[in-house]
Amino acid sequence: MTTVYSHGTLATLMAGNLGGTISLGELLQHGSMGLGTFDGFDGEVVVLDGEVYQADRTGTVHHVTDPTVTLPFATVHFPGSHQQPVQLLATSKEFVEDKLTETFNLTNVFAAVRLAGNFDQVKVRVAPKQQRPYPTLLEATKHQPVFEQTHVSGTLLGYYAPDIFGTVTAAGWHLHFISDDRQFAGHVLAFTGGELTGELEVFDSLEQHFPITDQEFRQGRVDLANVKAGIHAAEG
Ligand SMILES: [Zn+2]
Repeated sequence: MTTVYSHGTLATLMAGNLGGTISLGELLQHGSMGLGTFDGFDGEVVVLDGEVYQADRTGTVHHVTDPTVTLPFATVHFPGSHQQPVQLLATSKEFVEDKLTETFNLTNVFAAVRLAGNFDQVKVRVAPKQQRPYPTLLEATKHQPVFEQTHVSGTLLGYYAPDIFGTVTAAGWHLHFISDDRQFAGHVLAFTGGELTGELEVFDSLEQHFPITDQEFRQGRVDLANVKAGIHAAEG
């Protein structure tokens, strides 16, 4: 069994449930690689080989070691024995995403990818920390800081999710980046570069974890009609 672990859902984030609902310590029991955001939609989280990094709204990258910090949304997994090697050119984000989806026939499955290489350019955005009362995700993502680096070596990591799970998590590819010097990271908007090498893994199971003791989560009402348009605008 290969399992991807998901905490929180994109739909409840969309509804403005941005408060942290799982501790980092608990999350790391379910994976050593992954991505997410911290309490209050505070930055972009990268989990790589069990180490946790956060890019904040100023673009600064922090190495996070406090297991008590919380996250409203995260996806992690333990790389397993079903990893398949990947080698391709970082012609563009769209090229890499389409090539992976097609080559590994991902349309109906969850998958993770990790790719390292030298990039000519990487453009990321960072979720800006919000204060209570929280706005909807759409509001929160209207003014997101964008950062760009040229000639940077680093790692892309993220997940593919089928369209039909698009209210649980981001449908299609959701990629984060962190540079080898750990000074630059974020949610990937675009990149170009040379040869990328790494691994892709297809999961046969999704473990969806819910914050059942969180009253905001229990009482939140998701307006599904608006969620899909909002997700498209916020995550696209
Ligand atoms: Zn992201």
